[in-house]
Amino acid sequence: MQFASRLDNVETSAIRELFKLLGKPGIISFAGGFPDSAMFDVEGLKEASQKALTEEPGGALQYGATEGYEPLRTQLSAFMKTKGVDVDPSGLIVTTGSQQALDLLGKTMISPGDKVIVEGPTFLATIQCFRLYGAQLISAPIDANGVKTDELEKLIAEHKPKFVYLIPTFGNPSGAMLTLERRKKVLELAVKYQTLIVEDDPYGDLYFGEAPPPSILALSKDVPGSRELLAHCGSLSKVLSPGLRIGWMIAPPELLAKATMCKQFSDAHTSTFSQATAAQYLKSGRMPATLAHVREVYGQRAQAMGAALKRELGDAVSFTQPNGGLFFWARLTGANGKLADANELAKRAIEKLVAFVPGAPFFAEKPDVATLRLSFATADVAKIEEGVKRLGQAL
Ligand code: PMP
Repeated sequence: MQFASRLDNVETSAIRELFKLLGKPGIISFAGGFPDSAMFDVEGLKEASQKALTEEPGGALQYGATEGYEPLRTQLSAFMKTKGVDVDPSGLIVTTGSQQALDLLGKTMISPGDKVIVEGPTFLATIQCFRLYGAQLISAPIDANGVKTDELEKLIAEHKPKFVYLIPTFGNPSGAMLTLERRKKVLELAVKYQTLIVEDDPYGDLYFGEAPPPSILALSKDVPGSRELLAHCGSLSKVLSPGLRIGWMIAPPELLAKATMCKQFSDAHTSTFSQATAAQYLKSGRMPATLAHVREVYGQRAQAMGAALKRELGDAVSFTQPNGGLFFWARLTGANGKLADANELAKRAIEKLVAFVPGAPFFAEKPDVATLRLSFATADVAKIEEGVKRLGQAL
C-alpha cells in the first residue's frame, strides 16, 4: 500500500517488540510506563461516574464542546490554582490524555523541516509524534538536575527552534527534576529568544518527599512576557487513571484556538462521560487523599528499587535516586568487564524473567546504548527486590 510520505520519518517503536515478550509466565516487568491498577480509587470513581449519570446525564452522554466540558474546566482551573497557577477555565482546553495535547502541538506548530529542541533522552511518543509532522529534532543534554540550560541556550541561539519541549519534573524516562534556578533560566531564555516552551507535566504531582519546585508555568508570573510563550500539558493519567484519558493544555489564546480547531477535526471532543466523571471526582474532594496514597506507595517502591540496585548491581550501574515519577534512569558503567550494552542486557534479562526498556530509543539524536529505564510502578516491593536480583544475575 502507498502510505503518506509523512510516515517515512517514523518507525514503529523499538520497544514494542520487547513488550510482546512480557506475557511470559513468571516475568517481573520494570518495562511499562503504566501506573499500578491496584492503585486506582475504584470506589471514588464509581461514585463519581454514578453522580455524573444521575446529576447530569445530558452532559455526560451527549456530544460536547471541543474545548471541554465546562464543569471539568472549572475543576481543572481550581486544581491548577492549588499548584500556584492562575488560569481561567477558558484558558485551558481538555484533551484526550496529554498525548493528544502533544499531537495538537505538533499539528498546530510543526511544518515539515521545522526544528524542535527536546531533551536527550525524552518521551518516546513525543519523538514519534513530532517526527510524524516532519520535525527535525535537536537533542539538548540533561543531567540529574534536568536539561543543562547553558547547552540549551547555545542550541536555541544556533537553531532558532519552533519550540522547546521539556518534561521538567520527574521526566520520562530520566526521572530528573529541573532545579528552580534552571526553571527560571528557561523562562529567561523564552523571553530572550522569543521561543515557545512546551512544559509536559504528567508527573509533577507524583513526588515522594519534599514537593518539587513550582512548574515553569507557575513561575512565569515573576518573569514579564514569559506566560505568552508557554504551553503547559497536564494529565490525570498517572495519579488517577490513564483509562479516563483526561489531559489538558494551558497555552496562549491564539495557540489554544488553533489547537481547538484541530481537535474538532480529530475527535470532536474528549469523552463527555470521562470528563463528567473526572469533574465529579475532583469536586468530591477525594483527590488530596488519592495523591497522598500514590506518593506513599510509589515512594516506597522507588526506595526499594534504589536499595536493590545498589545491593545487586553495585558499581556496574550508575543512577540518581528519583524523587518522584515512575522511573529509574540508569547507565551501565562496564565496571569490572561487565556488560555495557543495555540492548544485550535486555535480552539476557528476559531469559532470567525480568524486563526493562533499553534507553537508546529515547534519544532523538546520539543514542546512548548503555542507558536503561526501569519502572518501579507496577511491581510491589518483594517483586522489585526479586526482579533486581534477577537483573544482577543477567548482568
Ligand atoms: N507525556 C509524558 C512525559 C508521558 O510519560 C506520558 C505517558 N506515558 C504522556 C505524556 C501521555 O500521557 P496521557 O496521554 O495518558 O496523559
